[in-house]
Amino acid sequence: MLVFDHVTKRFGANTAIDDVSLTIRPGVITAVIGPNGAGKSTLVNMAAGSFRTTSGRILLDDVALQDLPKYKIARAGLSRTYQNIRLFDGLTVLQNLEVALVPRSLPRLIMQAFGLSPGSSEAEARSDCETVLQRLGIAHLGERHAGSLAYGQQKLVELARAIVARPRAILLDEPAAGLNHGETDELKAHIQALRSPDLAIVLIEHDMKLIMSVSDEIYVMARGAVLAHGTPEAIRGNRQVQEAYLGQ
Ligand code: ADP
Ligand code: MG
Repeated sequence: MLVFDHVTKRFGANTAIDDVSLTIRPGVITAVIGPNGAGKSTLVNMAAGSFRTTSGRILLDDVALQDLPKYKIARAGLSRTYQNIRLFDGLTVLQNLEVALVPRSLPRLIMQAFGLSPGSSEAEARSDCETVLQRLGIAHLGERHAGSLAYGQQKLVELARAIVARPRAILLDEPAAGLNHGETDELKAHIQALRSPDLAIVLIEHDMKLIMSVSDEIYVMARGAVLAHGTPEAIRGNRQVQEAYLGQ
């Protein structure tokens, strides 16, 4: 379980996140939506250790993340993708994935969901990377330089990189942004395939059709605060949400 416990983040005089508490349960897909500037990426950046919190705690399976360096947060089982793709353009796709491999000390159920081996040797790690690429339909791109790929393919490599780390929590920051309809449908299937009992999934998105069809719970954020929280049906019918966001 991933928990944001009364988290605040200020950038100078700007309060980007104001006393926000979220509970993200494993086994379900939790969407976080809200207009630009609501603070969605800031939540991801704090969880992953890119930004320090101003106050509050972030817990993954009861481990406090908020003061840990990035690599320890990754080892604790948190993976993220970036709203703006961040691959090593000069490395191959497989090399980009190998960078994300972390020591496997914990049993990770995502192994079952994605057909990964339980082992830990280098050969098995390599084979895991290939398995994930295959599941995402991009096995043929393994030896290509990341920088030479089409945008939609790069988005999938970002997702693959987050998966091979065998996370307990995965935070996807606008994975569908810039994708065409066909690519978005494909992504939807991949996100649904990620659902596994031990994995907490956070999906930040603007594509409401995607959100409504894959998420189990939704948090709506606006101006650094949680405006509403509930099932897709409840959120769809929430007048305050319609006024603040959906109807815009
Ligand atoms: P969202 O992802 O919901 O569009 P962000 O989390 O990117 O929103 O931004 C929330 C607020 O935090 C905005 O006011 C933004 O300008 C501010 N912010 C985000 N990152 C930084 C940063 N690195 N430095 C200063 N302000 C930032
Ligand atoms: Mg953002």
